[in-house]
Amino acid sequence: MDIFDKCNKFTQAREAIRAGYYPYFKPIQTAQAPEVRINGERKIVCCSNNYLGLTVDPRVKRACIDAIRKYGTSCTGSRFLSGSLELHERVEQKFAKFIGKESAILFTTGHHSNLGTISALTTKGEVIITDKLDHASIIDGCRLSYAEMVRFKHNDMNDLERVLIRYKDVNKLIVVDGVFSMEGDIINLPEVIRLAKKYNARVMVDDAHSLGVLGKNGKGTAEHFGIDPNDVDIIMVTASKSLASIGGLIAADEKVIHYIKHFARSMIYTASLPPAQVAAIDMSLNIIISEPERRERLWRNVKKMADGFRALGYNIRNSQSAIIPIIIGDETKVLIMWRALYDEGVFCSPVVSPAVPEGESLIRTSYMAIHTDEQLDYVLNAFEKVGKKLGVIPGTYRPKPVKPRMRRFISRMRIGAYKMKMFSKRIAKRYLWFGER
Ligand code: PMP
Repeated sequence: MDIFDKCNKFTQAREAIRAGYYPYFKPIQTAQAPEVRINGERKIVCCSNNYLGLTVDPRVKRACIDAIRKYGTSCTGSRFLSGSLELHERVEQKFAKFIGKESAILFTTGHHSNLGTISALTTKGEVIITDKLDHASIIDGCRLSYAEMVRFKHNDMNDLERVLIRYKDVNKLIVVDGVFSMEGDIINLPEVIRLAKKYNARVMVDDAHSLGVLGKNGKGTAEHFGIDPNDVDIIMVTASKSLASIGGLIAADEKVIHYIKHFARSMIYTASLPPAQVAAIDMSLNIIISEPERRERLWRNVKKMADGFRALGYNIRNSQSAIIPIIIGDETKVLIMWRALYDEGVFCSPVVSPAVPEGESLIRTSYMAIHTDEQLDYVLNAFEKVGKKLGVIPGTYRPKPVKPRMRRFISRMRIGAYKMKMFSKRIAKRYLWFGER
């Protein structure tokens, strides 16, 4: 027995790579923009979290270059010790003021901020209550904590109340995504807050996909619902989306931030965010505050796509954000559809279990303020063509009979029974015609 046995046995991904159906780790040769080159081919991107398109904004780039000139390339130390710059503090203060909280702290990634904050604030004998579809970094934060984690059904307030009643005499932290990263729907925050008050729980909202997108001023989920930010105990955002950088920010009362600063291991034991990335956040915040027209443009694009997908007959469930999921269900079909779209020049993300519940696989699409109408029309046309071919949406496409050689080839391809059950004989037969493309 060897600890590496599992590595030797893990063959599914290699088989998918060989078969040309591996969607992950695609090296992009250009900047994160609506159009990129991959392997020399032009692709329209509809899987980026660059919602406001600021990764290619000249002002943001210039701010990064200036910061490198002034502060160098790295802080080479933790915020706790030698890695704090005046720039970090400026961004924290600007963010706290913008969001309407007393204080904020900047972590090196959004993932780190959820790990550090949740595990620092909760301990043995306490309970963390999470939505079933919360982001993995929230789950990881719970795993690092000695508190018990209890999940409630997705966005189901009756189920949340059931859990709150069960733990009524225990210290409780409710942690929810503002916008759910795969489904694109919004948490029922007014009801979460009402229940939290009723049962004496604290509330933390992960606004990774809401900052710059939701609310009149882009302040996120609380603003979207007209909720006083002081009613949300902790607001978390990541800088890797609308803020065109990397990093995570936690905003809360000063005493809570002070505590997190001294107990969040994922901040204390890692190097701080490099100067260029802090400067990108700083400039992106300025732009979010001063250019609401970007958000308006984003929403125009999102509406165009949501209407377009619905008109084509796609199920986009309850998408209410810049994330539009195309619900397919079957994992194999999702991967086949991803590949067909990729070949058509559209780069999107296949999402299968465990990122979503089994049988609820989807193609995750998301949009930017800087997508042009032509690019979006191109994407819709590709989805129409591929969706009809695959029978995901109504259409006239009739598969041609498959050549015997191709039939044998597809039947032989078995990618294993575990998560990626691609190309099992049953599934391969169902899509035999696909080899004819
Ligand atoms: N929370 C949510 C809801 C996310 O979607 C993500 C990233 N996709 C994170 C946290 C982690 O953020 P980061 O990429 O900055 O680590």
